[in-house]
Amino acid sequence: MNKQKELDKIAKEIENCATCKTGKSGMAVPGEGNPNADVVFIGEAPGKQEAANGRPFIGRSGQLLRILIRGIGLDDEKDVYITSPVKYLPDRGTPTSQDIAHGRIHLMNQFAIIRPKIVMLLGRVAAEGVLQKKVAVASEHGQLIEDKDGIKYFLTFHPAAALRFPNKYKPLLQQDFNKLKALLIGH
Ligand code: URA
Repeated sequence: MNKQKELDKIAKEIENCATCKTGKSGMAVPGEGNPNADVVFIGEAPGKQEAANGRPFIGRSGQLLRILIRGIGLDDEKDVYITSPVKYLPDRGTPTSQDIAHGRIHLMNQFAIIRPKIVMLLGRVAAEGVLQKKVAVASEHGQLIEDKDGIKYFLTFHPAAALRFPNKYKPLLQQDFNKLKALLIGH
């Protein structure tokens, strides 16, 4: 089976997953992008626009993320893969630790197919969801925070932080993307 077909199979599992849907609403947002991507971006959970369309990062945070991706010379639709630990819009906005722990199962299945070289963790939920350890984004961002099984995990802020406090977080997010670019070139 080719990688896209295997990812489509996981998307179907997510669409049929009762646990994923508990306490959440809208369409499944399994993720999308290049099944052979070297870089995968991990957010938090779909927002309203994403849940209405079934596509990741298409709202305001998504627009900023996609600008940052294009700014380092990557095509946001053709070169990378974009997804989240949680695949449906949580009723309370923020996902619970159970949501994150369950979503991780689907996410790890996606990683096993894509086999990215670098995973860009966008914020605390992404980092804790993927690495299963507490992180302090403010002091640990802009660096590789783990390197295991052939995957490098790079930490930065969620783009929503830069929308909320642009003066503080936008330059930091940009700096971290510049570091990601250097990492990709050195790869
Ligand atoms: N925030 C996320 O973390 N993911 C999305 O898809 C949209 C907003």
